[in-house]
Amino acid sequence: MITLKSPREIDLMRRAGQVVATILHEMCDMVEPGISTGELDRFAESRCKELGVKPAFKGYHGFPACVCISVNEEVVHGIPSKKRVLQAGDIVGMDFGVIYDGWFGDSARTVPVGKVSLEAQDLMTRTEEALRRGIEQARAGNRIFDIGHAIQNYVEGFGYGVVREFVGHGIGKALHEEPQVPNFGPRGKGLALKEGMVLAIEPMINAGSHEVRVLSDGWTAVTADRSLSAHFEHTVAITPEGPRVLTER
Ligand code: MG
Ligand code: MG
Repeated sequence: MITLKSPREIDLMRRAGQVVATILHEMCDMVEPGISTGELDRFAESRCKELGVKPAFKGYHGFPACVCISVNEEVVHGIPSKKRVLQAGDIVGMDFGVIYDGWFGDSARTVPVGKVSLEAQDLMTRTEEALRRGIEQARAGNRIFDIGHAIQNYVEGFGYGVVREFVGHGIGKALHEEPQVPNFGPRGKGLALKEGMVLAIEPMINAGSHEVRVLSDGWTAVTADRSLSAHFEHTVAITPEGPRVLTER
């Protein structure tokens, strides 16, 4: 079942989204060589307490932390650890969500650690642009695969792989609601988009093959060929005025 949100509910979801945006922005500012992913996670947890929100991922299906932090060839669902110290040249994806007054917000960014290769910077820049192009399709009257088609069509032009195993999702009073939002697919097909739908759009793009594996920790997804991967995500409401990004500051 797909729940449609009223304009008032979308405003409430925007409050959750703004807290996500603030904390995620602060985490991105802290990224530098020598910081551990565990420190970033502890910071996010303390900020949630200060701002009176609950971290959305901690305990979700048993996930042990507040933020999914995925480095280099890790695609998504990396587990933060004080032993994982970031090095210059790494790229780090941070995926973070909160619950505020019962409403969820969900967003992700991938950022460089110090100076990174041109290939790594291109992958991040183009994945963020792919997200922007996907968001542009989140309009009443379009179809769900228009979003994925825009993403896939753009990034495959660079020889990148679009991850298939993980997709975006509806979001509201639950973190993962229907519908699924694939980052690939045929233009003009699938569910008709309607005003009041709120979608988490989240391309996961690999520099090489689209295939992924899950490590023995049961969480961390990595690229099968160990190429770099980038991940950007926004929570987006479909409104009469078009797509409204709720997790942008
Ligand atoms: Mg997320
Ligand atoms: Mg998500």
